[in-house]
Amino acid sequence: MIDGGAMFKKILIANRGEIAIRVIRACRELGIANVAVFSEADRSSLHVRYADEAACVGPAPSARSYLNMDAILEVARRSGAEAIHPGYGFLAENAEFARRCEAAGIAFIGPPSQAIRAMGSKTSARRLATAAGVPVVPGAIEDLSDAEVEARAREIGLPVVIKAAAGGGGKGMRVVQAEADLASAIRAARSEAQSAFGDSAIYVEKYLVAPRHVEMQILADRHGNTIYLGERECSVQRRHQKVIEEAPSPIVDPALRRRMGEAAVRLARAAGYVNAGTVEFLVDRDRNFYFLEVNTRLQVEHPVTEMVTGLDLVKEQIAIAAGEPLRHRQDDLVIRGAAIECRIYAEDPFQNFVPSPGRIIGLREPGGAGVRIESGVYEGYEVPVHYDPLIAKLITWGQDRLEAAQRMRRALMEYTIHGIKTTIPFHQRVMVDSDFLRGEIDTTFIDRRFAGRPHAWDDSQREVALVAGALHVFLRDQARVMARPGRVGSAESPWKLAARQAALRR
Ligand code: ADP
Repeated sequence: MIDGGAMFKKILIANRGEIAIRVIRACRELGIANVAVFSEADRSSLHVRYADEAACVGPAPSARSYLNMDAILEVARRSGAEAIHPGYGFLAENAEFARRCEAAGIAFIGPPSQAIRAMGSKTSARRLATAAGVPVVPGAIEDLSDAEVEARAREIGLPVVIKAAAGGGGKGMRVVQAEADLASAIRAARSEAQSAFGDSAIYVEKYLVAPRHVEMQILADRHGNTIYLGERECSVQRRHQKVIEEAPSPIVDPALRRRMGEAAVRLARAAGYVNAGTVEFLVDRDRNFYFLEVNTRLQVEHPVTEMVTGLDLVKEQIAIAAGEPLRHRQDDLVIRGAAIECRIYAEDPFQNFVPSPGRIIGLREPGGAGVRIESGVYEGYEVPVHYDPLIAKLITWGQDRLEAAQRMRRALMEYTIHGIKTTIPFHQRVMVDSDFLRGEIDTTFIDRRFAGRPHAWDDSQREVALVAGALHVFLRDQARVMARPGRVGSAESPWKLAARQAALRR
């Protein structure tokens, strides 16, 4: 048990949405008072309602609110917060912000600023990994001029990917398949790097064919203890961004887990890493793994690791920042069952995942055994246009991967959000996809199975998907009927439909 009393008394959460609520919940369980910050566009947000205290830090654009270091540090000072949890995104991987917290005597719940800096540049991280004997994706380990990128690309052999050294979120990245596209890709990557990160440094590496994205969660304390908590597979991606994650990976066996985990720990030690972090790898068909990058923060997909290890990563982060030693040893950790996370975005999956902001006029969240929801929205909430469209995460746990997937399918059927488009129907299709169910996923999965074929699915699964759709409509209509005063609900029970669906599957 973490003893909240021996730690911080008050924590400020420098974030919004589901992750702000996630952190507030951990604080509340530990008996730690919490302070939310919000922009003018977020006055009526759930995280503001949920927090003990809340303060406005500026207008809607994040550059003037959630990225406004002065305003956030001022709220921390005024409210007497002893620590700041940055969540993910915004200031979470900003070495300057971590440094300013350190200078102000406020604990930054994350790694020391120099570790963030060392890992913040992909080329610097690749140098550290190489020195620590961790295999990296073949390619440059330093920032390159345009001419050098061209020369190295030829040396490595196409396809290659040109990347922003400061990159993140798939930005500043260009895949080059044909020599004729090289020069324009270099220009595009460099200018996107400059506009997205204020840093035009780029480099080039080999573009692996249909790899899997497998990442290791690590925890390190200030006393020299570093452990790995097992992997997450995040190969289901659109535009190089994750949409479904799971733990453990269907292709990782205990021996590979140990090798990847030990590599991740070696790198963390070499970087002087403290707190929670993720070492990302690409894995090829022969199960060779190559270091990709380090994320020096809590990841969006951290819940799947929590579900299979039983740990609360946010509480672990808080304890580490308070100077406590790790309470778990490597040999004590056990991976139990399997967990899957579906990211629920306010996006239209059938229009190339374009954002779909607007008002949520109907909301019904799933529940039941093995189901966890991390949500930042409520019925009547207006999803703003200003921020990342992730509105919730649905996580299921099962004794094995199949049960986790079956639960996910069931939970997605119960999940209704009206007024905006969401990725729920996309996830419903993935959960009946034969390749997904066999664990045959790689980073080309969405393009291979769904791109340009929004309604594509195997014939054998057509009925299941149709019934899933029917149940979705039925639950929505039933919710409307039930909402009308003086009416009894429809006589048809949703469970009969579920039974029919099971019959179809047989
Ligand atoms: P970002 O920091 O922008 O998220 P990453 O370097 O973490 O970028 O890569 C994001 C995703 O892009 C990976 O998960 C993978 O799908 C794809 N990718 C990146 N580098 C390569 C590569 N060398 N070969 C194949 N795919 C890659």
